[in-house]
Amino acid sequence: MTMSQNDLNTPTVPPNFYSMENSSLRDSLYETVIHEDRMACLLRVGEFHGHLCPGIALGIMSTLTGLREMGILHAVNNGMEDMLAIVETNACFTDGVQYISGCTLGNNALIYRDFGKTAVTFALRSRSLAVRVRVTSEYARVIAEGSPDFFPLMEKVVRDRSGSGEDEAAFMRAGRQAAVYLINQTADRFLSTAIVEPLLPPYAPITETLVCSACGEPFMATKGVSADGKILCRACAGHAHPQVEGGGILSVPPADEGRASNFRAQLIK
Ligand SMILES: [Zn+2]
Ligand SMILES: [Zn+2]
Repeated sequence: MTMSQNDLNTPTVPPNFYSMENSSLRDSLYETVIHEDRMACLLRVGEFHGHLCPGIALGIMSTLTGLREMGILHAVNNGMEDMLAIVETNACFTDGVQYISGCTLGNNALIYRDFGKTAVTFALRSRSLAVRVRVTSEYARVIAEGSPDFFPLMEKVVRDRSGSGEDEAAFMRAGRQAAVYLINQTADRFLSTAIVEPLLPPYAPITETLVCSACGEPFMATKGVSADGKILCRACAGHAHPQVEGGGILSVPPADEGRASNFRAQLIK
């Protein structure tokens, strides 16, 4: 059977699609969260993250612990920024937090503080107090206890990039083993919680859309740069711009714009 253009334009939606509450979208996930079914949480986060590793296990454990301490393990997060997760790292840990809490980069309920600490604070805008959960320095000992090959293989495969294909496969297995070991421990072996007064940012602003006079692409008005009486997007203005990447939040110098325009040229081809 071949697909016509018409098929592409008329997706099939379930019968109750338009009357369905958004709160039921994550029903099956809430089942696993409310019952603190850590193994099911691990598999679901693995689907999002791409592999099973101790980082996501720590993110899951921290989220379950934080939400439980806040008394909101049962609460539905509809991704409208009333509940926020403030993470202090952009490593694997954060994907566990995003998936389980429903506070994501895209719904603006995930705030990223570039401290490089494996920690997260859960806050509600309606409350003045929040819960910060952090991973203590004990975590490495617990991982080494449950998966002795994990750190040696990580050094070889990730840090030194000197591992063979077999080492890489062994590293993935060791990561799974570490993840499963962690979720079967009591959280207080490697997590510490504290009540804190959070400093919350305002709701994400709704901004006007402008069109760049150089590239013709629409962009958020707050990101515009004026030059010679024209409004340009940051990419065309050739200024340094902030970027979240493996190293954290970095200012990318204009020299890198060469990379960006090459990328655009490749897309146009
Ligand atoms: Zn990972
Ligand atoms: Zn532009």
